[in-house]
Amino acid sequence: MKTIHHLIDAEDVPAASGRTGPVFNPATGAQTGEVGLATGEDVDRAVASARAAFEDWRHVSVAKRTKLMFNFRNLVVENADEIAARLTAEHGKVLSDAGGEVARAIENIEFACGLSEHLKGSYSEQASTGVDVYSVRQPLGVVAGITPFNFPAMVPMWMIPNAIACGNTFVLKPSERDPSAPRFMAELFHEAGFPPGVLNVVNGDKVAVDRLLEHPDVRAVSFVGSTPIAKYVYDTGTSNGKRVQALGGAKNHMVVLPDADIDLAADSAVSAAYGSAGERCMAISVAVAVGEVADPLVDAIKVRMEKLAIGDGTDPASEMGPLITEVHRDKVAGYIGEGAEAGATVVVDGREARFDNDGFFLGVTLLDNVTPEMSVYQDEIFGPVLSVVRVDTYQEAADLISANQWGNGAAIFTRDGGAARRFQEDADAGMVGINVPIPVPVGYHSFGGWKDSAFGDTTIYGPEGIHFYTRPKVLTSRWPDPAGSSVNLGFPTNQ
Ligand code: NAD
Repeated sequence: MKTIHHLIDAEDVPAASGRTGPVFNPATGAQTGEVGLATGEDVDRAVASARAAFEDWRHVSVAKRTKLMFNFRNLVVENADEIAARLTAEHGKVLSDAGGEVARAIENIEFACGLSEHLKGSYSEQASTGVDVYSVRQPLGVVAGITPFNFPAMVPMWMIPNAIACGNTFVLKPSERDPSAPRFMAELFHEAGFPPGVLNVVNGDKVAVDRLLEHPDVRAVSFVGSTPIAKYVYDTGTSNGKRVQALGGAKNHMVVLPDADIDLAADSAVSAAYGSAGERCMAISVAVAVGEVADPLVDAIKVRMEKLAIGDGTDPASEMGPLITEVHRDKVAGYIGEGAEAGATVVVDGREARFDNDGFFLGVTLLDNVTPEMSVYQDEIFGPVLSVVRVDTYQEAADLISANQWGNGAAIFTRDGGAARRFQEDADAGMVGINVPIPVPVGYHSFGGWKDSAFGDTTIYGPEGIHFYTRPKVLTSRWPDPAGSSVNLGFPTNQ
């Protein structure tokens, strides 16, 4: 059985305490490895490495940083299949989906390859007589990233390339449930030529997170995970004086108007609800059917569900894999029972699907006639369960989204441009799709939700990521001309 260690100062470092956590192959249910869990001492060592590396790294030219980032990008492209295989082996998502995750990670690295454009700053010549004013953005120092299990390769790349291209050094604390892919990518990062200490990886759980949140040398924290932990990380990190962006959970609604293309809406609902077994923060978990569209929509979704192939992610025929752990699979199955008891119609019951091995599999579920007070509507289930809520009007659908605790993504399906435009304005969510079910922004925009889906002022990656990982400095300079100067105690005004 393999053991996954920390990567500190470009070296393989076992956890000081000897404490470990299990890593499973969710498709077989077998434990395939263990991961060393950090103590505060391990975290301190990683932060000290990053702190020492920062002194040199901040002075490395933008040209050199860019070259290294291109090297890294090329290595990730060359090793995309290997990264995807590691994702499937520990997360369970099917290989094609894992490949999609790696492709998105590459987009984020490519954005950082062009960071020079965003670090240019601005210059005002002759702002006052003989005085020039210019602004630059400088790195913060050591920054930390704490990432969830569901995108072990992509989410770290929402953070690391931008932070490091801006001149910071980084400590990553990936999810302890599927740590091999981020660890492998960190090895590629060093192979690309980045100096030791610029990127360190510490594996661990709450102990590691808490030390990062209190460590005086950690200047900023990017977190992606569930809402309760995001809120905790935001509150604790900011009260310790750190800059924090903490992205949380979601309950993404897809509104289907009566004039929608039913085939497109049903294909989209099935893809976005059951892709990656629903373990996506941008998954659609609620379809809001407006008026008479409900019956044909439910029928069209059901027909498509019956054809889905669920199985081991390494089998090219599989379209959906298992859930991450047995406990999580059972929790999701529990919600189906709760929905039925509360009065929802179970159109397709994922608990009835049978699998011939011990993997953490669950079939796909469709619940109809779900109402807002039910737990299946209130909670983020994070599994292959789609709820249909029936409403009479567009306004009821928009109000439902506004009243929801979360605001990550929202989508509308319609042929009416006016209605779509109205939704663009009304939708109480940070990322909106128009006939697009999973509107994850491209790498050169930024990603982030509203309400309990994100805490902090800046969203993640793209241009907002650069703002997060730098602080502005404004310089006012005068090079005295031979005419000389004089004493003036008045407040400086611009002449
Ligand atoms: P999680 O909150 O359990 O874990 C996220 C990270 O926090 C992990 O690194 C974990 O080790 C750490 N952690 C867990 N418990 C902790 C505690 N008590 N104290 C301190 N740190 C702790 O999330 P998860 O189950 O790994 O991921 C799924 C969740 O992430 C879902 O809610 C999903 O919606 C969310 N997510 C959100 C986004 C987004 O962009 N908004 C993206 C991906 C995932």
